[in-house]
Amino acid sequence: MTIPQIFLLPRRAALRAFAALTVALVIVGCAGAPADAPQAQTQLSAPKNIIILFADGVASAQWEYGRYSSMVLRQQGFVTTDIVFKQGTLGLASTTPVGAFVTDSAAAGTAMSTGVKVVNGAVAMTADGRPLTTAMEVAKASGKRIGLVTTATVYDATPAAFSIHAKSRTESQNLVDQYLALEPDVLLGGGADYFLPASAAGGKRKDGKDMIAAFRAKGWQVARNSAELRAATGSRLLGLFSDDDMDLEIDRDPVQEPTTADMATAALKALTQNNAKGFVLLVENENTDTAGHANDAAALMRALWAFDDAVKVALDYQRAFPDTLILITGDHETGGFSPTYAQKDLSSLSSSNRFTVGDEHLKMLSRITMSLNKVKEKLGAKPAGAALDDLVTKHFPGFTLDQDLRTLILNNQPLERNAVYLPQNTLARMVARQAGFYWGTSGHTPQPVVIGAMGPGAQLFHGWQDNTDFGQKLHRVILGR
Ligand SMILES: [Zn+2]
Repeated sequence: MTIPQIFLLPRRAALRAFAALTVALVIVGCAGAPADAPQAQTQLSAPKNIIILFADGVASAQWEYGRYSSMVLRQQGFVTTDIVFKQGTLGLASTTPVGAFVTDSAAAGTAMSTGVKVVNGAVAMTADGRPLTTAMEVAKASGKRIGLVTTATVYDATPAAFSIHAKSRTESQNLVDQYLALEPDVLLGGGADYFLPASAAGGKRKDGKDMIAAFRAKGWQVARNSAELRAATGSRLLGLFSDDDMDLEIDRDPVQEPTTADMATAALKALTQNNAKGFVLLVENENTDTAGHANDAAALMRALWAFDDAVKVALDYQRAFPDTLILITGDHETGGFSPTYAQKDLSSLSSSNRFTVGDEHLKMLSRITMSLNKVKEKLGAKPAGAALDDLVTKHFPGFTLDQDLRTLILNNQPLERNAVYLPQNTLARMVARQAGFYWGTSGHTPQPVVIGAMGPGAQLFHGWQDNTDFGQKLHRVILGR
């Protein structure tokens, strides 16, 4: 580190130099901003369009896993780290909600959308029921078009907190009703269940309403599978590709469900029409959080690659329309993801009986062909030994289920108090023991999240900040001031 010249001068000369510097700073300060302007406000170059790419449950360990595994297994760069984080502006955000250290997605999404902290579970609403202005409401009021894309249900915590309001994230039917009133130009993801009456296949609404028909009546084009999404040409688009959450990438049926990149492409195609004032688009991959809760390293890897492919779509768009700001972030970390070195077994604690996660272990993960959530679905509530052994042999080649783990699974018992996704977390321990991909918990952690920004206004997101700072800055770039 170099010491500023002023501290090397003799004392009297240093005082003279400091006085001169102070005068110069006052003059610059007066010339640069009106007297009533907040000190921290910098000149903003406002973007016309904003694309927020949101990987739920992802912090630095997951980003590095995406980058490294993509390089080793796909022989492909990972544009999130290699382009946006490397060439753009980088920030880190703390995530604590009101009254806790560890956040959920609703409180984190609310902070990042409204700039205000709330308790866990709340969707852009204070504890006394006061709605907080969301990023999408600001965008709409300023004449911008708005889009929400997710692999979760469209009424899930993140897209909801970026646009609408509820005391609890569980008010699914209420949240869908609010979407019809807000009229997002693009709404893509899962969650057809709360758009359809309980009398219809897959429907859960108690009021008998058909909200898909209601959107169609208002002029929205509707897509229910990948081909319909590809064929859509309208400027307003509702796409619902599953009754609840869309599948993890590792299990996805490409005929029924589009990729995150497919949905981003379709959303941009729709939002680019009639957009004199630009748009704000949120593209969320929720599978990264879902895989984290299950401690599913193989599913997480593929979800991260799917997310990164959507970032490529956004970067291509930015090349064609340079007045576009790209923001990449997550809301919290999920799973305490910790690939590490560990003993091969407990017969000896010497270093010769130790292995470190390496490329051969990544290759073992790449041969896994089913998510741990899908294993749970196949096994049902009372796992049978034969079915379990068969699934492990077929879909987890190269892995052996130790007797202690097998017994826990068949008895529906957890490994630990913080490993409560059964049998996923227990099967994940099989993967950890043999490939080194350990996890700390089946829940969220307070690890700060990474923010990458590229395009007009990006510099605003530089450095250490709170997730509420992100929300306030987002309002500034949407409003252009
Ligand atoms: Zn979560």
